[in-house]
Amino acid sequence: MKQLVIASSNPGKLRELQALLAPLGIELIAQATLGIGEADEPHATFVENALAKARHASRASKLPALADDSGICASALDGEPGVHSARFAGEPKSDERNNQKLVALLAGEEDRRAHYTCVMVLVRHADDPEPLIAEGHWAGEIIDSPRGTNGFGYDPYFYLRELGMTAAELDPERKNAISHRGKALRRLVAELKGRG
Ligand code: IMP
Repeated sequence: MKQLVIASSNPGKLRELQALLAPLGIELIAQATLGIGEADEPHATFVENALAKARHASRASKLPALADDSGICASALDGEPGVHSARFAGEPKSDERNNQKLVALLAGEEDRRAHYTCVMVLVRHADDPEPLIAEGHWAGEIIDSPRGTNGFGYDPYFYLRELGMTAAELDPERKNAISHRGKALRRLVAELKGRG
Protein backbone atom coordinates (compact mmCIF):
# COMPACT_ATOMS: atom_id res chain seq x y z
CA MET A 1 0.00 0.00 0.00
CA LYS A 2 1.23 3.50 -0.87
CA GLN A 3 0.65 6.10 1.81
CA LEU A 4 -0.65 9.62 1.42
CA VAL A 5 -1.30 12.11 4.17
CA ILE A 6 -4.74 13.61 3.89
CA ALA A 7 -4.99 17.21 5.01
CA SER A 8 -8.38 16.95 6.63
CA SER A 9 -9.97 15.80 9.84
CA ASN A 10 -13.52 15.85 8.52
CA PRO A 11 -14.72 12.25 9.09
CA GLY A 12 -17.26 12.46 6.24
CA LYS A 13 -14.59 13.45 3.72
CA LEU A 14 -12.12 10.88 5.03
CA ARG A 15 -14.66 8.06 4.62
CA GLU A 16 -15.44 9.08 1.05
CA LEU A 17 -11.82 9.57 0.00
CA GLN A 18 -10.64 6.34 1.59
CA ALA A 19 -13.37 4.40 -0.25
CA LEU A 20 -12.30 5.98 -3.55
CA LEU A 21 -8.54 5.42 -3.08
CA ALA A 22 -8.43 1.96 -1.46
CA PRO A 23 -8.99 0.14 -4.80
CA LEU A 24 -5.86 1.91 -6.12
CA GLY A 25 -3.74 0.53 -3.29
CA ILE A 26 -3.47 3.91 -1.59
CA GLU A 27 -3.85 4.23 2.15
CA LEU A 28 -4.80 7.62 3.54
CA ILE A 29 -3.26 8.73 6.81
CA ALA A 30 -5.32 11.44 8.46
CA GLN A 31 -3.04 14.32 9.44
CA ALA A 32 -4.50 14.34 12.96
CA THR A 33 -3.14 10.83 13.60
CA LEU A 34 0.37 12.27 13.03
CA GLY A 35 -0.35 15.12 15.43
CA ILE A 36 -0.70 17.68 12.61
CA GLY A 37 -3.22 20.43 13.23
CA GLU A 38 -5.51 22.00 10.65
CA ALA A 39 -4.03 24.61 8.30
CA ASP A 40 -5.44 28.11 8.10
CA GLU A 41 -7.82 28.65 5.18
CA PRO A 42 -7.58 32.40 4.70
CA HIS A 43 -8.09 32.50 0.93
CA ALA A 44 -11.06 33.52 -1.19
CA THR A 45 -10.86 30.55 -3.57
CA PHE A 46 -11.07 26.78 -3.13
CA VAL A 47 -7.88 26.20 -5.09
CA GLU A 48 -5.75 28.50 -2.94
CA ASN A 49 -7.07 26.95 0.26
CA ALA A 50 -6.60 23.38 -1.00
CA LEU A 51 -3.01 24.16 -1.97
CA ALA A 52 -2.31 25.76 1.43
CA LYS A 53 -3.72 22.68 3.21
CA ALA A 54 -1.74 20.21 1.09
CA ARG A 55 1.55 22.10 1.56
CA HIS A 56 0.95 22.38 5.32
CA ALA A 57 0.33 18.63 5.70
CA SER A 58 3.28 17.69 3.51
CA ARG A 59 5.66 20.09 5.25
CA ALA A 60 4.72 18.74 8.69
CA SER A 61 4.69 15.04 7.72
CA LYS A 62 7.50 14.99 5.11
CA LEU A 63 5.17 12.82 3.02
CA PRO A 64 3.16 13.44 -0.15
CA ALA A 65 -0.16 15.02 0.78
CA LEU A 66 -3.65 15.21 -0.62
CA ALA A 67 -6.04 18.02 0.27
CA ASP A 68 -9.62 18.72 -0.65
CA ASP A 69 -11.20 22.12 -0.25
CA SER A 70 -14.88 22.01 -0.91
CA GLY A 71 -18.16 23.71 -0.22
CA ILE A 72 -21.62 24.55 -1.45
CA CYS A 73 -22.40 27.61 -3.59
CA ALA A 74 -25.99 28.91 -3.75
CA SER A 75 -26.90 30.86 -6.90
CA ALA A 76 -29.22 33.29 -5.10
CA LEU A 77 -26.46 34.11 -2.60
CA ASP A 78 -23.80 34.97 -5.18
CA GLY A 79 -21.99 31.69 -4.48
CA GLU A 80 -22.07 31.81 -0.68
CA PRO A 81 -21.41 29.87 1.55
CA GLY A 82 -18.63 28.87 -0.88
CA VAL A 83 -15.24 28.71 0.80
CA HIS A 84 -16.97 29.59 4.08
CA SER A 85 -19.16 26.45 4.04
CA ALA A 86 -17.57 24.67 7.01
CA ARG A 87 -17.98 27.67 9.34
CA PHE A 88 -20.91 29.44 7.66
CA ALA A 89 -22.70 29.93 10.98
CA GLY A 90 -19.48 30.73 12.88
CA GLU A 91 -17.51 28.85 15.51
CA PRO A 92 -17.65 26.15 16.65
CA LYS A 93 -18.28 24.37 13.34
CA SER A 94 -21.82 22.99 13.23
CA ASP A 95 -23.53 21.33 10.28
CA GLU A 96 -26.90 21.88 11.90
CA ARG A 97 -26.46 25.63 12.38
CA ASN A 98 -24.90 25.99 8.92
CA ASN A 99 -27.94 24.33 7.36
CA GLN A 100 -30.36 26.45 9.39
CA LYS A 101 -28.57 29.62 8.25
CA LEU A 102 -28.60 28.55 4.60
CA VAL A 103 -32.32 27.67 4.67
CA ALA A 104 -33.14 30.95 6.47
CA LEU A 105 -31.24 33.01 3.89
CA LEU A 106 -33.11 31.28 1.06
CA ALA A 107 -36.55 31.68 2.66
CA GLY A 108 -38.99 33.03 0.07
CA GLU A 109 -36.32 32.79 -2.64
CA GLU A 110 -37.47 31.25 -5.91
CA ASP A 111 -34.00 30.41 -7.17
CA ARG A 112 -33.00 27.36 -5.12
CA ARG A 113 -30.10 26.28 -7.33
CA ALA A 114 -26.84 25.33 -5.67
CA HIS A 115 -23.80 23.29 -6.51
CA TYR A 116 -21.07 21.63 -4.57
CA THR A 117 -17.48 22.34 -5.65
CA CYS A 118 -14.43 20.30 -4.74
CA VAL A 119 -10.83 21.16 -5.55
CA MET A 120 -8.39 18.35 -4.92
CA VAL A 121 -4.66 18.98 -4.72
CA LEU A 122 -1.82 16.48 -4.51
CA VAL A 123 1.71 17.62 -3.69
CA ARG A 124 4.72 15.30 -3.74
CA HIS A 125 6.49 17.54 -1.23
CA ALA A 126 5.74 20.84 0.48
CA ASP A 127 7.46 23.00 -2.15
CA ASP A 128 6.28 20.96 -5.13
CA PRO A 129 6.25 23.42 -8.07
CA GLU A 130 3.90 21.15 -10.03
CA PRO A 131 1.00 20.19 -7.78
CA LEU A 132 -1.73 18.08 -9.33
CA ILE A 133 -4.99 20.01 -9.21
CA ALA A 134 -8.43 18.74 -10.18
CA GLU A 135 -11.92 20.14 -9.74
CA GLY A 136 -15.41 18.61 -9.62
CA HIS A 137 -18.92 20.08 -9.42
CA TRP A 138 -22.33 18.66 -8.52
CA ALA A 139 -25.53 20.60 -9.21
CA GLY A 140 -28.73 20.41 -7.17
CA GLU A 141 -31.17 22.59 -5.21
CA ILE A 142 -31.64 23.52 -1.58
CA ILE A 143 -34.85 22.32 0.08
CA ASP A 144 -36.36 23.61 3.33
CA SER A 145 -36.58 20.35 5.29
CA PRO A 146 -33.92 17.69 5.72
CA ARG A 147 -34.20 14.26 4.11
CA GLY A 148 -31.94 11.26 4.67
CA THR A 149 -29.23 10.32 7.14
CA ASN A 150 -26.21 9.44 4.97
CA GLY A 151 -23.39 11.75 3.99
CA PHE A 152 -22.54 14.85 6.04
CA GLY A 153 -22.71 18.64 6.00
CA TYR A 154 -25.37 20.07 3.70
CA ASP A 155 -26.35 16.68 2.19
CA PRO A 156 -29.82 16.37 3.81
CA TYR A 157 -30.83 19.69 2.17
CA PHE A 158 -29.14 19.12 -1.20
CA TYR A 159 -31.89 17.82 -3.50
CA LEU A 160 -31.25 16.09 -6.81
CA ARG A 161 -34.39 16.58 -8.88
CA GLU A 162 -33.40 13.97 -11.50
CA LEU A 163 -33.13 11.30 -8.77
CA GLY A 164 -35.95 12.56 -6.52
CA MET A 165 -33.54 12.24 -3.58
CA THR A 166 -31.24 14.33 -1.44
CA ALA A 167 -27.52 13.56 -1.28
CA ALA A 168 -28.15 12.19 2.23
CA GLU A 169 -30.57 9.61 0.80
CA LEU A 170 -27.93 8.16 -1.53
CA ASP A 171 -25.87 5.24 -0.35
CA PRO A 172 -22.14 6.08 -0.07
CA GLU A 173 -21.10 4.28 -3.28
CA ARG A 174 -23.73 6.09 -5.30
CA LYS A 175 -22.78 9.45 -3.84
CA ASN A 176 -19.10 8.85 -4.64
CA ALA A 177 -20.01 7.87 -8.20
CA ILE A 178 -21.64 11.23 -8.96
CA SER A 179 -20.42 13.73 -6.38
CA HIS A 180 -18.10 16.72 -6.77
CA ARG A 181 -15.50 14.87 -4.65
CA GLY A 182 -15.73 11.66 -6.68
CA LYS A 183 -15.38 13.59 -9.94
CA ALA A 184 -12.42 15.65 -8.69
CA LEU A 185 -10.61 12.60 -7.39
CA ARG A 186 -11.14 10.55 -10.55
CA ARG A 187 -9.78 13.48 -12.58
CA LEU A 188 -6.79 13.75 -10.26
CA VAL A 189 -6.06 10.03 -10.55
CA ALA A 190 -6.31 10.19 -14.36
CA GLU A 191 -3.85 13.10 -14.36
CA LEU A 192 -1.53 11.19 -12.02
CA LYS A 193 -1.58 8.15 -14.31
CA GLY A 194 -0.95 10.44 -17.28
CA ARG A 195 2.21 11.72 -15.61
CA GLY A 196 3.36 8.19 -14.99
P1 IMP B 1 -13.45 22.30 4.12
O1 IMP B 1 -13.16 21.15 5.04
O2 IMP B 1 -12.85 23.58 4.56
O3 IMP B 1 -13.14 21.95 2.71
O4 IMP B 1 -15.02 22.54 4.21
C1 IMP B 1 -15.90 21.76 3.52
C2 IMP B 1 -17.31 22.05 3.99
O5 IMP B 1 -18.17 22.12 2.84
C3 IMP B 1 -17.85 20.91 4.84
O6 IMP B 1 -17.64 21.12 6.20
C4 IMP B 1 -19.33 20.93 4.49
O7 IMP B 1 -19.97 21.93 5.24
C5 IMP B 1 -19.32 21.36 3.02
N1 IMP B 1 -19.24 20.18 2.13
C6 IMP B 1 -18.24 19.86 1.28
N2 IMP B 1 -18.49 18.71 0.64
C7 IMP B 1 -19.66 18.28 1.11
C8 IMP B 1 -20.43 17.11 0.84
O8 IMP B 1 -20.07 16.21 0.06
N3 IMP B 1 -21.59 17.02 1.51
C9 IMP B 1 -22.02 17.98 2.38
N4 IMP B 1 -21.32 19.06 2.70
C10 IMP B 1 -20.14 19.22 2.05
